[in-house]
Amino acid sequence: MVKESKYYDLLEVSPDASESELKKAYRKKALRLHPDKGGDPELFKEVTHAYEVLSDPQKRSTYDALGEAGLSESGGMGGMDPQDLFSQLFGGGGFFGGGPSRGAPRKTKDLVHRVHVTLEDLYKGKTSKLSLTRNVICSKCAGKGGKEGAVQQCSGCRGSGVRVTLRQMGPMIQQIQQACDQCSGTGEMINAKDRCKTCNGKKVVSEKKMLEVHIDKGMKGGQTINFRGESDQAPGVTPGDVVIVIEEKPHERFRRQDNDLVIDQEIDLLTALAGGQFAIKHLDDRALIVKISPGEVIKHADLKVIPGQGMPSYRHHEPGDLFVHFTVKFPDHIDPASIPMLESVLPPRPPLEKFPKATMLEEVELEEADTRQRARANNAGDAMDEDEGEPRVQCANQ
Ligand SMILES: [Zn+2]
Ligand SMILES: [Zn+2]
Repeated sequence: MVKESKYYDLLEVSPDASESELKKAYRKKALRLHPDKGGDPELFKEVTHAYEVLSDPQKRSTYDALGEAGLSESGGMGGMDPQDLFSQLFGGGGFFGGGPSRGAPRKTKDLVHRVHVTLEDLYKGKTSKLSLTRNVICSKCAGKGGKEGAVQQCSGCRGSGVRVTLRQMGPMIQQIQQACDQCSGTGEMINAKDRCKTCNGKKVVSEKKMLEVHIDKGMKGGQTINFRGESDQAPGVTPGDVVIVIEEKPHERFRRQDNDLVIDQEIDLLTALAGGQFAIKHLDDRALIVKISPGEVIKHADLKVIPGQGMPSYRHHEPGDLFVHFTVKFPDHIDPASIPMLESVLPPRPPLEKFPKATMLEEVELEEADTRQRARANNAGDAMDEDEGEPRVQCANQ
């Protein structure tokens, strides 16, 4: 019922795991994978990120419904430092002698950008240019906001950017924190005449930058490409990353299932019964000619496979398979004169089914169902589905 199970797989739990099962599973995995215990830091990070998402009910339901791609939309890529989450959960920073995150420099926010990629481009690979606007340190004032010495600590807040006022409310004293009005919360004052003209004292200017995004063959929706440190710059802070999230556009002919492709192929009744050929336009510049040998019968809803014609796998580029799901198009009418010929080659009609309990036989008419009747029949089917249990929406959250 969940869109992706990657996070659950990372924690080795089923998608309906309870909160305590998740926590237990994470603890077990994290203890084994912790870098201080010689574990793989990348895997530790991934497992931690998975737990961070699944332990938050809101993020979990987003993930269940939309997968990884849904999370990044809300800017959830940055996340918590795995060491922090780990210590927060399993007691104190000193669990393994403290993590490297202590005193780590602050970072600006990651810039998350989603690119919609066609299945063709994911099949062949593609390099596309992405232009983005970001803040960079003003080169004129080197991020100082003005001439040397022009920037002074705000006297109103002593550089903290906030002012605390105390207010008596009956027997209680209330402490109110507000952004300093003298410096608008920056903690600094710049003399108007010394202010940098280029950045207007803001220390940063916005700049357009071109990024070359290399979409490798076999990449999947939800996968990310990181440009380390390409996010906004700010004085004294490490710039965050630009994170490109791949979003796979639905294809009109192919459906993708991991590295396999599935196509719905209609063939005519004669080809289905007597053989022939059909063509499939592939995702590159090829068309595949598929032969059906005479004597081999393709049935309606048959599933066949063309090995090695699926998507290339990510990194190794090993091809998956192409599944062909057949629909057989029947003619609307046939000439009654040709029926004896069909009778001579097809298996004979089965005898009429006998019902020992039926005491009367009644002949009835079979008519074409009109649109309204069809709708009625379909509604009947839907109503039956709904009766089968919980509404579908809820299944995802269980
Ligand atoms: Zn101030
Ligand atoms: Zn400047």
